[in-house]
Amino acid sequence: MSEKKGTSFKACKNCRALVPPETSICPLCHSSSFSDEWNGMVIILNEKSEVGQMFGATTPWRYAIIVK
Ligand SMILES: [Zn+2]
Repeated sequence: MSEKKGTSFKACKNCRALVPPETSICPLCHSSSFSDEWNGMVIILNEKSEVGQMFGATTPWRYAIIVK
């Protein structure tokens, strides 16, 4: 199995969810706009937690902190 260089995820430009590169539609917000240029990863385990709310997360997921 050949691994692509760089990140193994891409980030949704709309909700910042990190998804595998082969994903075509964001499973969270159904956007099809993604960016390979993102920085920092946050894993939200509970969207109602302080961090989840601060982050605007609606679903427990992994999110990019910065999406260019
Ligand atoms: Zn999204």
